[in-house]
Amino acid sequence: MEVLLLGTGAADGIPNPFCRCDTCTDHRERGELRTPTSALIDGRLLIDPGPEAPRQVSRFGRDLTGLVAVLAGHAHSDHLDPALLMHRSWVTRSPLEVVGPEPVVAWSRQWLDADQTAIDFRTVTSGDTVEVAGYRVSVLAANHEAFGEACCYLIEDDTASVLYATDTGLLPEATLSALAGTPADLVLLEETFGPRTDKGDRHLNLATFATTVERLRAIGTITESTRVVAVHLAHDNPPLAQLRAELAELGAEVLPDGTVIRLG
Ligand SMILES: [Zn+2]
Ligand SMILES: [Zn+2]
Ligand SMILES: [Zn+2]
Repeated sequence: MEVLLLGTGAADGIPNPFCRCDTCTDHRERGELRTPTSALIDGRLLIDPGPEAPRQVSRFGRDLTGLVAVLAGHAHSDHLDPALLMHRSWVTRSPLEVVGPEPVVAWSRQWLDADQTAIDFRTVTSGDTVEVAGYRVSVLAANHEAFGEACCYLIEDDTASVLYATDTGLLPEATLSALAGTPADLVLLEETFGPRTDKGDRHLNLATFATTVERLRAIGTITESTRVVAVHLAHDNPPLAQLRAELAELGAEVLPDGTVIRLG
């Protein structure tokens, strides 16, 4: 399984263009952009197609001609820009599945003409296990809200498994129970607010990220061989070198947009 990290940033990315904090300046000086969090698996499954995800595909020298399904966790604009469905329709009307909780499907439908029967919409809810693009996808409750339900996903095939957990605060008990005993090869876990603890509980900060890693270890989802990568990073986080050191203490990594992770 190949996981291409199209984006690793929060909604506003890093740098936030309105900001000259140390973290934004650090990224600007090194010429590094973090765009909204999104991943492409084996060129077949696009997760969280936010506004920059399609262009990121092009920047990294790839294309979406082999895309079989789109999977979105929730209907916030950094995770879902349904315009890509319209852009695709200008090229091909071959079958494509669009999967997510009800608000994701409702919003995506608005972008398509009635005659676009090639798009197969599938509404999922936490607790479901579905097959999407040849992967087994377990739909998990997120501690987040976007005009309705928000979900995290465990994506598995016969070779590897990936836990995609953004956007969420501390994971609900039902999600931990669903994951218990299932080891993941890769955990993409959000860490939005860095040291800030005053920005609500619908995202993780460094402290609640650490708690979440601990809990995922306790239930066997994070093992000795699991790679844990912090995503959905906002500029509240410290500059890269410091963030890398703080995450390393938790057994986690910070990687740039465009990183390819091969599993299995
Ligand atoms: Zn987000
Ligand atoms: Zn900033
Ligand atoms: Zn969100």
